[in-house]
Amino acid sequence: MNRKSGAVLVLSGPSGAGKSSLINKIIEDIGPTYFSISTTTRPMREGETDGVHYHFVSEEVFQQEIEAEMFLEYAVVHGNHYGTSLGPVKKALKEGKLIIFDIDVQGNDAVQSRLGDITTSVFITTPTLKELKERLISRSTDSAEVIANRLEMAKREVQRISEYDYLIVNDNLDEAAEVLVSVAKAARMKIPTLHINEFIQMWEAQA
Ligand code: 5GP
Repeated sequence: MNRKSGAVLVLSGPSGAGKSSLINKIIEDIGPTYFSISTTTRPMREGETDGVHYHFVSEEVFQQEIEAEMFLEYAVVHGNHYGTSLGPVKKALKEGKLIIFDIDVQGNDAVQSRLGDITTSVFITTPTLKELKERLISRSTDSAEVIANRLEMAKREVQRISEYDYLIVNDNLDEAAEVLVSVAKAARMKIPTLHINEFIQMWEAQA
């Protein structure tokens, strides 16, 4: 069957769980991919580049984009707006790519309701809350207050693991990456409902 229809891989999990490192590690090994660059109102962190890590915009611009219905989904996370632009997603789907979203649990919920039949979701976390705290502290990009907020948020997010297809505990980066490559390859093979009907018709027509 023609697999040029594209698919979606949602990755969620607490900040500091290693999602970005994992994505960077697997991206070369999983075929044609589009990594969705979100739009956010959060201030840029040291080492981040506009248009690479996020599209950094003001609250005013974000509101305009909401009104223009430019987002597939958007949510408030840690007090800032984050949103996934619809345009590039449509384009990547047409090109048959695997689209990777690094979005929170609210975003997963929205993507599941709009693109559920082609979406595979993965929750990525550290082995323990203690380890998450240590990683956030050693990353030293956030203030103590921000870290405390992120840990509280992580506790709430972990409660929603059952909404995901897979759980990856990022204890060892190489091992976690190996599992994620398998999941990403399988995600690409998800069959859109529309294609199932088309396939059955074509299959029966050639008796
Ligand atoms: P950070 O500020 O650490 O880059 O990201 C904070 C959280 O926002 C992460 O859990 C990340 O997955 C989530 N996030 C990033 N972009 C989006 C988005 O477009 N939509 C949603 N719903 N969450 C996002």
